[in-house]
Formats: sequence, C-alpha cells, structure tokens
Amino acid sequence: MRIGVLGGGQLGRMLALAGLPMGVEFTFLDPAPDACAAAVGRHLPAPYTDPTALAELARTCQRATYEFENVPVQAVRELARSVPVYPPPRALEVAQDRLAEKRFFRSLGIPTPEFAAVDSLAELEAAVEQVGLPAVLKTRRMGYDGKGQRVLREPRELQPAWEALGGDGLILEAFVPFRRELSVLAVRDRAGQMACYPVVQNHHEAGILRLSVAPAPGLDSALEQLAHDYARRVLHALSYVGVLCVEVFEVAGMLLANEMAPRVHNSGHWTIEGAWTSQFANHVRAVAGLPLGSAQARGWCAMVNLLGEQPDPVEVLQVPGTYYHWYGKAVRPGRKVGHVTVCADRLELLLERLEELRRRGLRVPPVPASTAPQP
Ligand code: AMP
Repeated sequence: MRIGVLGGGQLGRMLALAGLPMGVEFTFLDPAPDACAAAVGRHLPAPYTDPTALAELARTCQRATYEFENVPVQAVRELARSVPVYPPPRALEVAQDRLAEKRFFRSLGIPTPEFAAVDSLAELEAAVEQVGLPAVLKTRRMGYDGKGQRVLREPRELQPAWEALGGDGLILEAFVPFRRELSVLAVRDRAGQMACYPVVQNHHEAGILRLSVAPAPGLDSALEQLAHDYARRVLHALSYVGVLCVEVFEVAGMLLANEMAPRVHNSGHWTIEGAWTSQFANHVRAVAGLPLGSAQARGWCAMVNLLGEQPDPVEVLQVPGTYYHWYGKAVRPGRKVGHVTVCADRLELLLERLEELRRRGLRVPPVPASTAPQP
C-alpha cells in the first residue's frame, strides 16, 4: 500500500516513520524543493494544484491524505475523484475558515467563544457591541500559529486593527480569560470505530505551541469526558477517517472550542513514545483501512518544541526518559525544527526531568498549573 500525502513537512515525515514498519509507503506532493519528508518517501516537487502531479499521485497511490492545513480544497477534491482521500475534503473546508468552523461547532452543540463575522469597519463596530472588549480580531483564512490576529482592548484600536487585517473577511471573538489551553486528539476508522487520546495541556508563546503535557494534570474527569464527546461529535458528523485535533479553552469549569485541525497535530507528538499507539500510527492505520490501536497513555509525558534552535543531543539525551526528534530542516528564527519528549511514570518525576533539561540548557517554559492570558 502506498499513501499519497499533500504536504511534505515534519508531519509527513513522522507519518512515514510510523507507516514504514507496517509496510506502508509514501509519496509526498510538496512545492518545497527541500521538503523534509523526502528523506522517508518519494517526493513530487510541484504546486498542490498541479494537474500532472495530482494525476501521478492518484495513479501510484491507493489512498491519499494531507498533512498541511492550507492546501487548496480544490486540489483535494480533484484528487478525491480518483483515489479515496481521508480525512474527507469537507473537514478541510470547515477547518480552513474560522467562521465556518465556529458555526459548525455550534451546530453540533459544542460551545465556542462569542463571535461575529466582520467584513467592514462598520461591522467591526457592531461586532464589538455584540461581543464586548477585550476581543480578538482574526482573519478567517490562512491564519496559523497566532498569525493574522490582533487583541482589541479599547475602541480606538478598532480602526488600526481593521486596516492591518481587513480585506478577505474577518471574525471577532470574545477574549476568553481561560484557565488553560487543552487539546483533544481522536481517531476514527472507516467502520466508525473511534479512539480518544488523553486530553493534553498546551502552553503557547506568541501564538506558537511551546510545551504540551499529557495527560493534562489535574483535569476533572467530567471535563475529560466532555472533550472526548466534542471530538466524537465532530468525527461522527463528518464521517471522518483519520486523526483529528480539537483545541479548547478551559474556563470556569467549561470547555469552549477554539479550532480544529483535520490532521495529525503538534500537540500529539508526545504519543510517539507516550501512548500505546502514536497519533501517526493510528492515522496511517485509519487511512490504510487497518484496525486502530489503543490511544491510552503509557505514563506521563511532556513535549517541548525546538523553535529555531538546535540543542546538543548529547546533553538532552543524558536525561532518562528523554527522546530527541530532529526534522532535518534548515534552522531559522522561530521555525519548528524538532521536539524533545520526556516520559516518566509519575508527574513529579516528569517535572524533575524537565528541570534537569533546563539545567542542561534546553529552553523549557515553566509547566503552568494555569496559563491564564493577560489581555
Ligand atoms: P489560534 O490561531 O486561534 O489557535 O490562536 C492562537 C492563540 O491565541 C491561542 O492558542 C490562544 O493562546 C490565543 N487565543 C486565540 N483566540 C483567543 C480567544 N478568543 N481568547 C483568548 N485567547 C485566544
């Protein structure tokens, strides 16, 4: 079996690293000549919409998937005409538009922050009346890692924010004074079987994921169930196949959905060593039509993203329970170039190991009991 993948970054690379032992091979369509997944599969360097490359993918692969969220939906639909594509293109379409995504959550009874569509300065003023301040103004499309967003605190900030972001459609959301950010990863196969990973606690810096801890320490079991229920509702509604991530805010004993990613996700990298079946292995299994594996955690895990930095693996790997992942990408400021996972059978031991990594020079943010944002 060969799976065609739209996108050939680190997510594609880790998919192949999980799929190859099961005899599944990969072809990556990615315009970047130095796509880092090329080390573990065939690489077609072409634009995502290139008809020849899409036809080649369809001819040589028995299934297709995507690992990059901004691939044009048209390309995915085109591919789906000749080869089964999982997750379904509809999932990508919903996830690419923050407004459609929030309306979709609401249609499933999943609560979200208050929001309003904004297409003009007058609509922004009306949206602020409705949603209140502080609020977050976001572009509906192509935003990721905190790009394309502005926090609004005062009425005088409206016009400059509109001028900076206005154009292709915006959404205004109430600023949520969350206790912490969590994410839930789940997987569904073609027969409708589902498995949910333990809920993860995430810590972002400047909109980029820096640290994940799993399972989320001290999470109320009712909230854990609720997060799993949100994920199951989304999977079911979309007749989804593959791994899905839903990011939520924990606030006042409730979970509000922020966004979803119809693919394997950075907050699930810990599952490579920390769960019985990694998110990558389960995604490959679902797409290839193989039975899903257990999504249970083996113990406690933390994942630290390496952002534009290459720590010495000799230092990092001296700490017991530690795993070093390097994506083979050129180092640029702030770029995700690798991650470090730390595992332990007790939370206290996990925190001690993180402290030891700090002493050895790894930039590890403090594990926050609460990551409440400052508006
Ligand atoms: P997003 O691209 O929507 O995931 O936003 C990036 C980060 O901005 C999130 O991980 C949060 O830390 C923060 N953020 C986004 N939306 C809100 C909101 N409505 N209220 C508070 N913080 C937010």
